[in-house]
Amino acid sequence: MSAIYLDNNATTPLDPRIAPVLLEAFQAGPANPSSQHAWGRQARQRIDQAIENIGESLGTRLDQPGGPRLVITSGGTESNNLALSGIGGDGPIVVSRVEHPSVIAAADALANPRSPIAARREIRWLDVDSGGEVRVDQLADLIRDDSGPATLVSVMSSNNETGVLQPISRVAEICRDSGVPLHVDATQSIGKLPIHLDSLGAAAVTFSAHKFHGPVGVGALWLDGHVKVNPLLYGGQQQLETRPGTEPVALVTAMAEAIRLATGELDEARGRVQRMRDRLEDSLLRRTPHLVIHGRDKPRLPGTSCISFLGTDRQSMLMALDMESIACSSGSACSSGSSPPSHVLLAMNRPTAEVQSGLRFGLSKFSTDDEIDRAIDAISSVYRRLANQETVDN
Ligand code: PMP
Repeated sequence: MSAIYLDNNATTPLDPRIAPVLLEAFQAGPANPSSQHAWGRQARQRIDQAIENIGESLGTRLDQPGGPRLVITSGGTESNNLALSGIGGDGPIVVSRVEHPSVIAAADALANPRSPIAARREIRWLDVDSGGEVRVDQLADLIRDDSGPATLVSVMSSNNETGVLQPISRVAEICRDSGVPLHVDATQSIGKLPIHLDSLGAAAVTFSAHKFHGPVGVGALWLDGHVKVNPLLYGGQQQLETRPGTEPVALVTAMAEAIRLATGELDEARGRVQRMRDRLEDSLLRRTPHLVIHGRDKPRLPGTSCISFLGTDRQSMLMALDMESIACSSGSACSSGSSPPSHVLLAMNRPTAEVQSGLRFGLSKFSTDDEIDRAIDAISSVYRRLANQETVDN
């Protein structure tokens, strides 16, 4: 019986239609878009075309002088670090408590006088409610604060653990009224929800190809035309010196095709994935009474389900499911091995028993009904077995 991959929020399998695109692009010859010879010019043309195509898929005009632009990066982590350290000088930053670690740790490092990127920036934390939605009512005060106005706000579009969607249009409105740039980490939303970058109201938006069935190792930071960004890296004139280094033409070409496929199939995939996720949750709830599904009353990503299996330990559940060939995730980071308690569930003020037993399942458009049927059987039987064995204090 084949393994069931339900960890698509960590990374997605490459769309089989992307592999030939990637191979063809890698085999197209030497590709340094800054070289002046014919190969270089061809590489420049290929990457410019790919970037234009990405713009078309994501509702942004990238060919206007002084208009929005895309900075190609190695992925979501780099884009988030570039946004946090590069936008808003050394003024205070408002960051939601449920951001991805690549935002939270970058903010912490900017604030910490002993870190290599110390900027003594003040960090102001935006709380979430018990369902994981940011407290928009706090935002204007956090931006204004007596110690000086914030110069950057960072709020994610959807949470990678709970799938909860943040009210970005209201956040953007408040930021616009206060004249402060907004960075949106849309890593989990792009390719899964319709996103029109030019009308999001953001100054900067992060995304990453391996979350929408493209290759790992490439992503971007979309920038509104007015935004100034200080680089993280130095050493070349590429990408207007915002992100020096030879651009990975083949990876960007593959990312463009992956986003074209993802956005083109989005409407159909979204409904189907959501029906599978809802069936997974409903069936598990029916079979096992002691479950808590986080953010269930909120708008969520179609394929994400964050479930606490009360009376068990998340790490034991994860390992037992792995033995049954079901891949899911525990803890806050996308890393495996250790699993610190989820900072997201902690920020939601969930009881200890829920934090201890929280697991994340991430479906994709390549998940199947048969896999979900098998996952329901395996998860409920593993849970029954472990809940009987373990004596976790509820
Ligand atoms: N932001 C979010 C919301 C994510 O889910 C992830 C990946 N787990 C990242 C950023 C980091 O992206 P990458 O793996 O491409 O560095």
